[in-house]
Amino acid sequence: LFNAVEMAPRDPILGLTEQYNADTNPKKVNLGVGVYYDDNGKLPLLECVQKAEEKMMAAHAARGYLPIDGIAAYDAAVKSLVFGAESEPVKSGRVATVQCIGGTGGLKVGADFLKKLNPAAKVLISDPSWENHRGIFTNAGFTVETYPYYDAEKRGIHFDGMLTALDRAPAGTVVVLHACCHNPTGYDLTEQQWDQVVAVVKARKLVAFLDMAYQGFGQGIAEDGMAVRKFMASGEDFFVSTSFSKSLSLYGERVGALSVLCQDKEEATRVLSQLKIVIRTNYSNPPTHGGQIAATILNTPELRALWEQELGAMRVRIKEMRGAIVEKLKAAGVKRDFSFITQQVGMFSYSGLTKDQMVRLRDEFGVYGIDSGRICVAALNSKNIDYVAASIAKVVQ
Ligand code: PMP
Repeated sequence: LFNAVEMAPRDPILGLTEQYNADTNPKKVNLGVGVYYDDNGKLPLLECVQKAEEKMMAAHAARGYLPIDGIAAYDAAVKSLVFGAESEPVKSGRVATVQCIGGTGGLKVGADFLKKLNPAAKVLISDPSWENHRGIFTNAGFTVETYPYYDAEKRGIHFDGMLTALDRAPAGTVVVLHACCHNPTGYDLTEQQWDQVVAVVKARKLVAFLDMAYQGFGQGIAEDGMAVRKFMASGEDFFVSTSFSKSLSLYGERVGALSVLCQDKEEATRVLSQLKIVIRTNYSNPPTHGGQIAATILNTPELRALWEQELGAMRVRIKEMRGAIVEKLKAAGVKRDFSFITQQVGMFSYSGLTKDQMVRLRDEFGVYGIDSGRICVAALNSKNIDYVAASIAKVVQ
């Protein structure tokens, strides 16, 4: 039966972690990951999460099946977070939200629904993008192409190219957009650029799918919702996937959602019924624990305040590390201007280092990043940053 099965390629990022784990260099640093580590190099367990879990444990709740669309209080909290509790779409009930298995699950449920709705549509993702965007939409049956995004020479966004590609896309094309903290480049659109993107999506009748995997890691929870608010104001229907993996440091609990903004409540009810079929025929219903943690935090004022404080501290620490690495590279005598790292936002930086330099960093210094030059700034800390800066200084000189 399995004679003809070919070996699938290894996941490049997970492969890197395996190589890192096997490295005996005591100074090794893993900047290839996509997770936030605290200043001690540890994955944080947020205090708001611990308190929510204590509350949940005290209640000793039974673990029945959840409804297909998940915990109602969770879905309501996601709607408020993403669109605003007082926003017209939320108040009028025209958002369909389903609890999903991480942000990945939100993307997959949305992709499967879109494929049924508009099987001939193409999907455009940014060049470059989080690699799984391509995989998820390809596996849902779509042809996936890219729109220009990163301009290596300019160190920024190839905005004209992006706009031109969107302007040329046929009506119905699904455009996957990073709502904030672009992975992998760290470059986000400006407010004016978002206005132009929204205008072209509307004019060309494209379908926007906003991937919101880092809300709160850029400028703040509300600030990072700018793109969503702009699409809301456009009056168009669109999709938003949400992930709490990073913002609640709940990676392994797989806490995410998909929201679809519709024209009215009746339409949202029909859309919801279709999303439920996608879920029912894939994994039936979502797990209880992570969703309950998020619902408890988002719906309990003290825990919500504590979360905002802890998320703020993560955001500030990343910013500090951006400033510090630029300073330390300068202090190490590096002539090249790396100040662009402080203009990037979120967990990642496209460092501008070449593949050869990334390989040297890995082989000679045990500093692991992705061959594309992507490093996880959220894995830098006060203990490893001097070594990382000294190692980069050696490979760029
Ligand atoms: N979208 C982007 C842009 C991401 O970077 C990630 C996670 N690395 C996800 C979606 C998926 O998030 P989750 O782990 O919650 O599935």
